[in-house]
Amino acid sequence: METSVVCSCCGEPHAGSEVVRLGCHPDVAVCGGCVDRMSAKVHSRPGVTPIFPVRDMTEAREFWARTGVEVELYDSGYAFVMFGGSEIAHLDLRPGLDAEHNLAACYIHVDDASAWHQRWRDAGLPVTDLVVEPWGMQEFSVRDPSGNLLRVGRNG
Ligand SMILES: [Zn+2]
Repeated sequence: METSVVCSCCGEPHAGSEVVRLGCHPDVAVCGGCVDRMSAKVHSRPGVTPIFPVRDMTEAREFWARTGVEVELYDSGYAFVMFGGSEIAHLDLRPGLDAEHNLAACYIHVDDASAWHQRWRDAGLPVTDLVVEPWGMQEFSVRDPSGNLLRVGRNG
């Protein structure tokens, strides 16, 4: 029997695996049900999804498949990058795109930058070294074949 933890929001006891602890206050635990209710409130914030131009859809799909996500084609010129059932990016076919001069970029916030770095490096992606930047983020980056820059990192 798992130790039960009292949710700081609803006051009900829950198994340790059913609660999350606040990053800044690990003594504060909140159960999944309360997180869901809070999430529904906070998600009046609009969702934002980057749209990456890609020069070749097959090449782009191969790149994203190596990162460990699913790519769902909408049609031959447009696709959705899916992670855990939600879309994290769109791919928009732009034949003739000059990868050298593509300035598109996005920042991917993760819990464990070093695990992502290792996974992507093992998959043969051209990742930079994992470093702690002057602004305090532990991060690395990779460019896809179309020149889109993906920066991946976390605080501290
Ligand atoms: Zn609760």
